[in-house]
Amino acid sequence: MTHYMTGLVVRTEGAPAEIVELRLPEIGPGQVRVKIRAAGVCHSDLSMINGTLRPPHPLVLGHEAAGEVVEVGEHVTRTSVGDHVVLNWQPACRTCWFCENGEPWLCSTSHGVAALENGMTLDGDPVHVTLGVGAFAEQVVVPENAVISVPKDLGFDLAALLGCAVLTGTGAIRNTAQVALGESVLVIGLGGVGLSAVAAARAAGADQVIAVDVSEAKKGLAEAAGATDFVVSSENLSKEIRSRTSRRGVDHAIECVGRASTIRAAWRATRSGGQVTVVGMGAADDMVQLSALEIFSSARILRASVYGQADTDLEVPALAQAVLSGELNLDFLVTDRITLADVPAAFERMSRGEGARSVVEL
Ligand SMILES: [Zn+2]
Ligand SMILES: [Zn+2]
Repeated sequence: MTHYMTGLVVRTEGAPAEIVELRLPEIGPGQVRVKIRAAGVCHSDLSMINGTLRPPHPLVLGHEAAGEVVEVGEHVTRTSVGDHVVLNWQPACRTCWFCENGEPWLCSTSHGVAALENGMTLDGDPVHVTLGVGAFAEQVVVPENAVISVPKDLGFDLAALLGCAVLTGTGAIRNTAQVALGESVLVIGLGGVGLSAVAAARAAGADQVIAVDVSEAKKGLAEAAGATDFVVSSENLSKEIRSRTSRRGVDHAIECVGRASTIRAAWRATRSGGQVTVVGMGAADDMVQLSALEIFSSARILRASVYGQADTDLEVPALAQAVLSGELNLDFLVTDRITLADVPAAFERMSRGEGARSVVEL
């Protein structure tokens, strides 16, 4: 049976996003069809349309989502019709070198793929789906390893955020930085990822969590997430951070912007021997300058955290439990509930640095 549905598509590079009718592919063996119930507007979606990334077109936007399984193909074992699922935009194949060596977040079959064709068509021509998902649409067809079942009492809105922003932000703190009791943490960039990192740093027992954003308007959200300090970013950011940390600098800096200037500021605000964790995805031509002497003499560690450095199949259900038990409070994260047609306006709010997460409800 052929299914049609609407989705948010960018036809060519630089064109505005528009709502169009798409034809879903028939599902094959090992695939599932999911009715999307909530999809978050993530900075990576903005990167797909603002020139930071150069994905192929036409492109269905969206990748941070949750929904309900409505059809399963032959041989599908990990989910069934009616399950509530979080979409995983970087599913682990479990057979490549990285998967077999305990680093499924770097799986060589899906890591670094901006968009791919999956049989979906627009006016008879193939379209590409963002990060293998294309979640700004009423339905998606994905391989079964791209869905993770979660309890039905978890709201679809928070479930959607677990699939990208929350996993990325909490994973940077828990898995990459491994923040310990009593440490100090700087988080630069307070979008959905940064605010999740702030909440996770407090939950990990950090004494001081300094939240930084270019917008003063993020102060309330930073405090709701558990920040002890809020600083508006400026030229003198590293100096300001040092003045709040006995002139020594923080134990951990978490950079959630993806720009050379903020990576450099994070580096300079970190104590000798401390760690800078880069979470933001930046541009290929934005060069970070570090001198050979400062790399040696500061003894700092510079690391990246990709998709929370997490095994999503294990950590998404664990995060769902943490939210349901109240151990992880993320209620502050959803600041705007919108429709598909409002997504372009949500991108503009994001560009202006307003709010935390906009979530499309379908
Ligand atoms: Zn995302
Ligand atoms: Zn793999």
